[in-house]
Amino acid sequence: MIWNEKIECASLDRMQALQLAKLQETVAWVYDRVPFYRDKFDSMGLKPADVQSLDDLAKLPLTVKTDLRDNYPFGLCAVPMDDVVKIHASSGTTGKPITGPYTADDINQWKECVARNLHAAGVSKKDIVQVAYGYGLFTGGLGLQGGCDLIGCATIPASSGMTERQVTIMRDFGSTVLCCTPSYALTIAEKAADMGVDIRELPLRVGVFGAEPWTIEMRQEIEERMGIRAHEVYGLTELMGPSVSFDCQQQDGFMHINEDHVLAEVIDPVTEEVLPLGEKGELVFTAIQRRAMPLLRYRTRDITELRRETCSCGRTLLKMKKVLGRSDDMLIISGVNVFPSQVESILLEVPEVEPQYVLIIRKKGYLDALSVDVEAKAEVYDQGEDKLQAVEKLIEAKIRGTIGIGVKVRLVPPKSIERSEGKAKRVFDARKL
Ligand code: ADP
Ligand code: ZN
Repeated sequence: MIWNEKIECASLDRMQALQLAKLQETVAWVYDRVPFYRDKFDSMGLKPADVQSLDDLAKLPLTVKTDLRDNYPFGLCAVPMDDVVKIHASSGTTGKPITGPYTADDINQWKECVARNLHAAGVSKKDIVQVAYGYGLFTGGLGLQGGCDLIGCATIPASSGMTERQVTIMRDFGSTVLCCTPSYALTIAEKAADMGVDIRELPLRVGVFGAEPWTIEMRQEIEERMGIRAHEVYGLTELMGPSVSFDCQQQDGFMHINEDHVLAEVIDPVTEEVLPLGEKGELVFTAIQRRAMPLLRYRTRDITELRRETCSCGRTLLKMKKVLGRSDDMLIISGVNVFPSQVESILLEVPEVEPQYVLIIRKKGYLDALSVDVEAKAEVYDQGEDKLQAVEKLIEAKIRGTIGIGVKVRLVPPKSIERSEGKAKRVFDARKL
């Protein structure tokens, strides 16, 4: 189902004409209103009028996360507080939080993007949608809620946590759609099994999961456990929140970008040069619709590649590959670059273990060593030490063969790893303890 065919299936010419007009408007908007950008432009000898084509985007200054922190809380806001109707913020686990102010129109645009996302996942006004993303400062809960309101489905604002209640609501209210992080979906599935509720027998048929990296193998695992079709939502507070991009029924490992709202580029993270379509690098977004805080060329640290094609779903919106990690999640183990998601893919193919794991980095002499704790299935755990050791050796060999690094794998007892209610924390850096 396509929510806005005129935009989602627009010809490239039409889309690019629209993008250029909005880019020019946005550049003039921030130049006139945000001293941070005006100073940057002035020091580079740039004027808004220098943006004559979409290629000129590459001339504009990049914005990084520390710029947001340095201008905390509202230094990058381009409108007076009178025009701001809502303020979200990201968790700020690594410092001051990132703020996201919105005008009334920004909120409407955001709802439109989320509605496109939900509709692409097959959600209509007939659905009962259980939103189990956190409500509050985090953009997930209220963001998804906004799209549901536009579609007109029945929304259950469950928020995250109180997992037993999530299962009860799902069963009693007959939720047909679940929105949450993929790791929380697993937690809910497990709780349901403990409660003797078979989710596969419930009316639940679609999941809209995101806000953290998850592999295709994890998607299949969740689909299997819940008897649903799992779709994806991608976004970040700095740009608007959920639904910057979304997957369609094609599920080819790519997502469509709402490119009438954000212009996407992929750059080489070291040289900062723009890379051609199809090359892997760091994703950079320019918000061209937002008025409260439109960021220019924001470096997401998410690693992906872009693809331009007419999708079999009919959409022409630019595609980005599923994000399997941020550049700052990348581990360097014995000189090899490793993303936690690569380990996840391997673990999910081992039938003896649960999809619950943590990676621990330790210092070993001058080198960094990686160990993986993964939960054994109850029936495997009961078979005793020899069986566990055999499975550990098997996983270690698989990781060595696929990623090329030596790791220590430990099978831990069922339910011993802390369950996620939001974004899962799967990497522990014991070097910093
Ligand atoms: P925080 O920085 O506190 O985590 P956000 O919710 O704004 O706050 O996080 C946005 C980030 O979450 C993205 O830059 C990306 O790294 C990650 N993310 C969001 N959706 C997805 C997704 N579908 N797949 C992978 N990563 C995602
Ligand atoms: Zn598609």
